[in-house]
Amino acid sequence: MVIVLSPGADQDAIDEIVQVVEDAGGEAFISKGVSRTIIGVVGNAGVLEALEAKDLTQHSGVHEVFRITTPYKLVSKENHSHTSTVMVGDVPIGPSTVTLIAGPCAVETPEQTLEGARLAVTAGGTILRGGAFKPRTSPYAFQGLGVEGLRILQEVGREVGMPVVTEVVDAADVDVVAQHADMLQIGTRNMQNFALLQAAGSVGKPVLLKRGLTSTYDEWFMAAEYIAQRGNLNIVLCERGIRTFEPSVRNTLDVTAVPVVHDMTHLPVIVDPSHAAGRRDLVVPLARAGLAAGADGLIVDVHARPEEALCDGPQALFGDSLTELSKVMATFPALLGRSQNQR
Ligand code: PEP
Ligand code: MN
Repeated sequence: MVIVLSPGADQDAIDEIVQVVEDAGGEAFISKGVSRTIIGVVGNAGVLEALEAKDLTQHSGVHEVFRITTPYKLVSKENHSHTSTVMVGDVPIGPSTVTLIAGPCAVETPEQTLEGARLAVTAGGTILRGGAFKPRTSPYAFQGLGVEGLRILQEVGREVGMPVVTEVVDAADVDVVAQHADMLQIGTRNMQNFALLQAAGSVGKPVLLKRGLTSTYDEWFMAAEYIAQRGNLNIVLCERGIRTFEPSVRNTLDVTAVPVVHDMTHLPVIVDPSHAAGRRDLVVPLARAGLAAGADGLIVDVHARPEEALCDGPQALFGDSLTELSKVMATFPALLGRSQNQR
């Protein structure tokens, strides 16, 4: 059972509810978020029935009470008839739109980031991506510009009028990333870094949670639950390809994940065809597949001169491949009964 308190609920209201839960034999887990407090109740069927009979909504400070049978309570589709819409700055990601997040894999220089932002705009992008803290397989590979990269990304985002999303790889960096970005990205390698998930859930910015490269759906949704449990329900899931037995492509895009997310959770889901494929020629076909399966948006890498890119050049779109993506963005939303986000 989940008890959602009203935004103004004070400590007395919280204590009163906890007392009622404990008197009924249940255990209460309190999570105080930026905007609301949520009390998770664990107990056997008898405890939950007893609490239901008490009608907790009659207590002051209680906004909503629901009983949820799945292990992920706050992100579950139960009690939600529609997919939620998450606002990133003034850009929605949700069931009515197709949102394109685009930009360079990594922030390298102010000029390269601005070029990337302009390419993103030509393809129909409304949110700018760019990595400042890069989780690289090799410690000898470019690790990103760190805080300087955050500053560049924020500056470029302001210049082109786009909200920005960037990855955070360490719980200690969550505050500084949140100061510069409109959305925090948690990458595939950190999907089960629980301290990072909790820190990201506590800071009050929307979170883009990529699927771990060997994670099951349940593990992914439970990772999202860690963020939600800190009071932040502004979570967008991202299918970015999983590791399979096929060595000729970087990862295998699991298109099935898209309708499964919509079936099991109320969270929006986007697809990352760039990191799934690792190859430019496959990015647009996979983008089409993701949208056709019901994805609420895409995140793609672009670069004005991919041969010079410090990270993931072979998958970055430019020139003709970018034109192909802009055609997808111009035609697919109408086909899917959605609108394209406008700038
Ligand atoms: C990225 O988007 O830059 C990235 C590193 O993605 P992933 O975590 O999916 O590999
Ligand atoms: Mn990358």
